[in-house]
Amino acid sequence: MKKLYIKTHGCQMNFYDSDRMTDLLKPLGYELHDNGDEADLIVINTCHIREKAVEKTYSELGRIRDQALLRKENTGKKTIIVVAGCVAQAEGKEIMRRSPWVDIVVGPQSFQNLPELIAKVDPIEKNKLINIDFPIIPKFDDLKSDISERGPSSFLTIQEGCDKFCSFCVVPYTRGSEYSRPVKSIVDEAKKLIDAGAKEITLLGQNVNAWSASGSDHKVWGLGRLINELAKIKELKFIRYMTSHPLDMDTELIEAHRDIEKLMPFLHLPVQSGSDNILKLMNRKHKVKDYLKIIEKVRKYIPKIAISGDFIIGFPGETDKDHQETIELIKEIEFSQAYSFKYSIRPGTPAAVFLDQVDEKAKNIRLQEVQNILKEQQFEFNQKSINSNIKVLVLKNGKKDNQYLGRSPYNQSVFFNNDKENLIGSIVNIQVSEAYQNSISGHIA
Ligand code: SAM
Ligand code: SF4
Repeated sequence: MKKLYIKTHGCQMNFYDSDRMTDLLKPLGYELHDNGDEADLIVINTCHIREKAVEKTYSELGRIRDQALLRKENTGKKTIIVVAGCVAQAEGKEIMRRSPWVDIVVGPQSFQNLPELIAKVDPIEKNKLINIDFPIIPKFDDLKSDISERGPSSFLTIQEGCDKFCSFCVVPYTRGSEYSRPVKSIVDEAKKLIDAGAKEITLLGQNVNAWSASGSDHKVWGLGRLINELAKIKELKFIRYMTSHPLDMDTELIEAHRDIEKLMPFLHLPVQSGSDNILKLMNRKHKVKDYLKIIEKVRKYIPKIAISGDFIIGFPGETDKDHQETIELIKEIEFSQAYSFKYSIRPGTPAAVFLDQVDEKAKNIRLQEVQNILKEQQFEFNQKSINSNIKVLVLKNGKKDNQYLGRSPYNQSVFFNNDKENLIGSIVNIQVSEAYQNSISGHIA
């Protein structure tokens, strides 16, 4: 077997793609390894969403060159180096210019061509290959490889791309326009994932709730209807989805949360800002009151649902007043957990040329303030779990002896001890006794 090392950056969709690349390369004799020192093939699956993520790619490529040179010196063997993902899509040839030791650059919509590209790599290292097409046949139709052993929780991409063009975001340019996979291809893959060991599936999409396709009744289905179909698969025990957009939050999906026990009570619904002025500049096409209305409705249907979100802090033009409005919104919603990022200029996006960029110092102070409140809310949410009895899917061993780690229905990490059996993949009832900042713990009830 040849050794494959994949380093994945960024969102869950990249992790899904990396798993699919592993499946795709297996028939070529590549087996996944956990370090690149002796790898025959190294893939970096990259993220372009913020500047930091892009810089990470280039510094990592420097390390990989050293690894590959050392291996060549020691063994005489060439390491094939591939850059995949959104940096590959956005930077294309620039990667080869800055890092000429890279052999292949392949975009997120064309990695299904990796086997052919690898076959064309010239051992004398003259052949540099770039494939960043948006193919007419979506990559899923070409991804026919078997799915190898997975853990108890798996990702399944059902929707890709975005047509919303928020003024700060690179996704519409790196992942292309919105595409929804057909129902049959999703259901078939869900069954394969279950055969490979999954008990929980998280449906993924840049705007997962924009998913829509023709169903078995020839009517147009939305995400709620799809989840209903997937819930019929007996061996599938937990269903999650992310990331959703406020504009695509329909009643059918909210009802699915109320009616389908397998659908977990957790909603990741980014709002980005609590100021209507900023939302307008962001081209979000929703207002703060629209977001509040959705959350009110969701909580009316499912009172205990956990709400998560994303915030961009220091967007161009953000005043102290706008920032205070974001703080007020956070206080009003009470998130169970949420992500907050400093605005990062992305070349080629409209906001990159907005004149009133917020200075770094103000961004840092505002981010700290937002993160402190979000942290408090997360801790309070975790504390409310104490004394409750929750169903937990056991995902892996913890770092300590006899410790297991699982996930609660509300997407909290759950630790517990058990010294007897191998419980990975089982579903246990945990009586919660302690709460921490990022997790809760307890014992099997
Ligand atoms: N489609 C989802 C939505 O609109 O709510 C979000 C998907 S986006 C890939 C993930 C998150 O990255 C966004 O919610 C946003 O908070 C963050 N993000 C995107 N562009 C950014 C930028 N230029 N600077 C900082 N954060 C950014
Ligand atoms: Fe990016 Fe989400 Fe806006 Fe699309 S909707 S442009 S993915 S932030």
